[in-house]
Amino acid sequence: MIDGKKISISIQNSLKEEISKIKNIYNSVPKLVVVLVGNNPASISYVKAKERACEKAGILCHVERLEENVSESELIKYINELNLDSETHGMIVQLPLPKDLDEEKIIQSISPIKDVDGLTNENLGLLASGNSRFVPATPLGVQVLLNEINAKTEGSNIVIIGRSKLVGIPLALLLSSKSDLGNASVTICHSKSKNIKSHTIKADIVVVATGFPHTLTADMVRKDSIVIDVGVNRIEDNTKKNGYRLIGDSDFEEIYEIASKITPVPGGVGPMTIAMLLKNVTKAFLLNVKK
Ligand code: NAP
Repeated sequence: MIDGKKISISIQNSLKEEISKIKNIYNSVPKLVVVLVGNNPASISYVKAKERACEKAGILCHVERLEENVSESELIKYINELNLDSETHGMIVQLPLPKDLDEEKIIQSISPIKDVDGLTNENLGLLASGNSRFVPATPLGVQVLLNEINAKTEGSNIVIIGRSKLVGIPLALLLSSKSDLGNASVTICHSKSKNIKSHTIKADIVVVATGFPHTLTADMVRKDSIVIDVGVNRIEDNTKKNGYRLIGDSDFEEIYEIASKITPVPGGVGPMTIAMLLKNVTKAFLLNVKK
């Protein structure tokens, strides 16, 4: 089992040391602003985890909570204020946004030099051109995780199930990039793909990121391959105090018997996402002071 939590803690501890050095040199520390719209319970708990991690690392984190019915223009006005605020080095808008808001328009209103989620067209374009600035935290976390477990990407066949701008597409760009942690042959599958098993069964590494439990079943996985499960699904569980538990997009128990390595949910990719976000915020601060 791949212990993403342990790897993430070690990265966060080194970051803490880096932030303390930054404080000594610049007499200032990185600041992240998280914009949270509405009351989506999953979003609230993700934001709390980000806030806690920032605090531990010595990064300032301000969470701006806006009402569910905030208008698009009000939200963009607030983002523009943050774009101009010299004290704010990085910002993220917690997704998903309420349906009435144009998510794409709002993301694109974030200044690319503060876009620590790496979702603006400028940052995704830089990633595609091999000149990345901010890479979305989850795919970056998956790449770092693969490196930490000594999974060789160069020359390997990697199948990614899911083609979102947040996970699948940037991950495919990263893993196929001409770089030490890339150089893989990457296949992307999605909801219109036919016979996904014919791809996954030949893969050295399978990454699943669909948001649907049981997308990856044991019969789809080659013996001794590596499985990275990005999915986070809440399912009802009356034995739990909060009434639910989290599962991924793969059949963990069955695949665990076949694969050489697999990430658990929770405790796999999730903690890596947080560590990479903190890295991006630190990078935003350093880019700002070196301007
Ligand atoms: P998304 O935007 O909904 O994209 C899902 C992708 O999966 C789409 O490309 C979709 O195909 C594809 N898909 C859906 N059903 C499929 C199926 N049965 N077979 C093959 N492909 C299928 O979701 P996302 O933002 O990428 O997130 C995916 C999952 O990762 C979610 O569970 C999310 O909560 C989780 N996540 C976790 C973290 C973390 O830190 N652990 C971070 C981000 C996301 P089409 O393009 O054809 O619709």
